[in-house]
Amino acid sequence: MRPEREETLGALILAVRPQGEADCRVEAVSAERGRLSAWARGLRRPRAKLGGVLQPFTLVALTIHHGKSRVIIGAETLDGFRALKEDYVRLTAAALLAELLLAVVPADEPAEEVLGLSVAALSAMARDAEPLLPLLAVLRDLLQLLGWGVDAETCAVCGERLTGDCYLKLEEGTVSHGRCRRQGMALDAAALATLAGPETGPSLVGLEALAQLWQMHLERPLKSLPAVRAAFRHLLAAD
Ligand SMILES: [Zn+2]
Repeated sequence: MRPEREETLGALILAVRPQGEADCRVEAVSAERGRLSAWARGLRRPRAKLGGVLQPFTLVALTIHHGKSRVIIGAETLDGFRALKEDYVRLTAAALLAELLLAVVPADEPAEEVLGLSVAALSAMARDAEPLLPLLAVLRDLLQLLGWGVDAETCAVCGERLTGDCYLKLEEGTVSHGRCRRQGMALDAAALATLAGPETGPSLVGLEALAQLWQMHLERPLKSLPAVRAAFRHLLAAD
């Protein structure tokens, strides 16, 4: 008989999906195993032991039993990012991040860097005065990590430093001066700074540029994007 195994992992919970009468399927990202899917048996029963712990956007120490299927047998909160869950705008930003992670993090491969970036982003989204900034930073940094980053410092046409009004050519992932090539998405200075990083201002054009890049690479619309656009619309006057 093959010995059954227990393992405890630091994991960020991204989604908790009801299954059957009382169970849930928990989707998470861990440093050691990347994207992880496991059963939480009886989680929807009224006095479920882990009910308060297994919630989206919670960093937990997850104890998993690897048998025929993966079952969560224990969980302790490491960081609940509480301020995030009490604020709709912050929550929409976190939901977009979760959607991206579920789409790009492979299962059973280490994902230390992705987890580090994501946890830092959620901490900042919970804590900072302007949660759009950590969202923009993590959208950009994850693109970079996946090899989908954009060179927002050098003009793709003349090779000189980018300044002023520029254009992003999505399918090439390149940026040019407006005077060199006027093709693609128009970027203002704040949007250019958003793409170049690490200093980021609250730019809605920058958000749109990053979202378009993600949608192009994922080859589908981002479900959480309309809610994010609506939540941050109040910044339009300042953009
Ligand atoms: Zn140029």
